[in-house]
Amino acid sequence: MSDGLTIAIDGPAGTGKSSVSRGLARALHARYLNTGAMYRIVTLAVLRAGIDPENADAVAAFAPTVDLAVGFDPDEDSAFLAVEDVSVEIRGDAVTKAVSAVSAVPAVRTMLVRRQRELAEGGTVVVEGRDIGTVVLPDADVKVFLTASPEERARRRNDQNTEAGLADDYDAVLADVHRRDHLDSTRAVSPLRAADDAIVVDSSDWTQSQTIAHLIDLVEQRAGATR
Ligand code: C5P
Repeated sequence: MSDGLTIAIDGPAGTGKSSVSRGLARALHARYLNTGAMYRIVTLAVLRAGIDPENADAVAAFAPTVDLAVGFDPDEDSAFLAVEDVSVEIRGDAVTKAVSAVSAVPAVRTMLVRRQRELAEGGTVVVEGRDIGTVVLPDADVKVFLTASPEERARRRNDQNTEAGLADDYDAVLADVHRRDHLDSTRAVSPLRAADDAIVVDSSDWTQSQTIAHLIDLVEQRAGATR
């Protein structure tokens, strides 16, 4: 593994993808790149600028002015808009509702994909997103498409919400899972789909540690094959 491996982890919302990707990066002593956070930072900046997220032309014109940064540490949620730590705010409802519209704007994707390719260079990295195996890193050494049933994903997200002190509203969360799946998989640019050479991993019946252990096995097999 002298130059390191690039590991792409894609999949829909609510599969536990972030926790699994972080766990994998930790186990491999690798860097971790959360590309969803980058789309969320741009979305926050769009909202703060008073721009309608559905106004693709206005979003496209504004996006290049956004000064964003994310960290590589799997144990830290670091997301910056200029010098401001926005790691909590980008997880809020306002950004979550608007992010699909902003991430469907081609100019936003072109800009962020370029950044993501640069950031992925330089040693072993776990890159998490929606289009990593298909668009950002088509030559990634390991491509995983992590799925779980919509009901299981909604249950997990709702549990996270209640743990965080938010309302228990499974039906609303399930509706949001379906809404985001639909938007992300039907958009014209980089729709969410598994790369032809991705390994599809259904985690519905697995714990997080079982899923991480399975991915570590996949990476080790791959590392053995490239040695
Ligand atoms: O991963 P997360 O749920 O934080 O991503 C937020 C949103 O960003 C997704 O719903 C999707 O619209 C967008 N996204 C994307 N491409 C990526 C990562 C995220 O379009 N590589």
